Amino acid sequence: MMKDILSPQELLALMRVLQNSRKIIVCAHRGPDGDAMGSALGFAEYLRNLGKSVAVIMPTPCPDFLQWLPGSETVIYYDHKQNLANSLISSADLICCLDFNALSRLQNMAAAVEKSKAERLMIDHHMDPDMSMAKTMVSHPEMSSTSEVVFRILYQIGGYETMSRNGAAAIYCGMMTDTGGFTYGSNDPEIYTIISLLLQKGIDKDRIYRNVFNNYSPSRMRFLGYILYEKLTFHADNKASIFAITREELKRFNFIRGDAEGVVNFPLQVKGMKLSISLREDTERDVVRVSLRSVDDFPCNRMAEEFFNGGGHLNASGGELPFPMEEAIKTAERAIEAYKDML
Ligand code: 5GP
Ligand code: MN
Repeated sequence: MMKDILSPQELLALMRVLQNSRKIIVCAHRGPDGDAMGSALGFAEYLRNLGKSVAVIMPTPCPDFLQWLPGSETVIYYDHKQNLANSLISSADLICCLDFNALSRLQNMAAAVEKSKAERLMIDHHMDPDMSMAKTMVSHPEMSSTSEVVFRILYQIGGYETMSRNGAAAIYCGMMTDTGGFTYGSNDPEIYTIISLLLQKGIDKDRIYRNVFNNYSPSRMRFLGYILYEKLTFHADNKASIFAITREELKRFNFIRGDAEGVVNFPLQVKGMKLSISLREDTERDVVRVSLRSVDDFPCNRMAEEFFNGGGHLNASGGELPFPMEEAIKTAERAIEAYKDML
């Protein structure tokens, strides 16, 4: 019914590495999003069902709107519990790296992972993976999400039977968030086969949608209105837009982790808009976080690499700039100018 994701050789390699490991770490990128959390929790459940001792460790905390995810309370955040995390990482047999393509995306946690003698398994959907980051790599940039990759692996190796409703909810959450509620990057008909299989596990997909997308505070609503009314600027004949948010503004609107998420998608509702750029002063480090979103074939990832020290997917990328905000805005304007023929 569904095509196999793993070749016979890949299947053997995966079975070997799982068989040989007892203590396993599952981790994902800094600032874990729905796909990072969902794929990690879904895969961790499978490993626990195999009788493995599993710890899910993320470099930094997940946004508030993901805390309903069953099992999220068991996730260890490296920045909060470095001693515990370091000892788990150094004594592990296997470290599973989900939803990122280079160890640098682990930020403060990268050194500990590199130092550990544990073997590494990578499961991901980002382009241009660093081939040295893991011995066993399952890399599928053509897929909607790492959660989809995890589902397909589990389906092929017999993990669907033992998948619980919670495991299914985690994987559905990851697929849903990385596709904006199945509105982009989700035209593969088999995605709907997977959704059907997840629904058969008893998940409430309508509720998962509300938990993620309709779960904000009143001040976040005002924040959104403020940005769209006061801060958004249009460029290149209304085919590109920029907004910039300062720390002071984040404080004014009682910003909590995750409140900025999704705002970058709104300007794409303007007719003909192809590129939306969000600039936001980080609350912890002296950097400006950059998010890019595009439609059709506009390559956000190329722009992110060239101008914003980042990367990502064709239609969704990110990066960061070390400048003050005024400089970051100028960089964004220059980026739009350089790419205006593609807009
Ligand atoms: P977001 O805008 O949600 O922070 O990130 C969107 C996508 O861009 C992520 O899924 C990730 O693929 C990519 N991305 C975000 N930040 C960075 C970064 O700093 N470096 C790289 N290489 N990719 C990033
Ligand atoms: Mn992802």
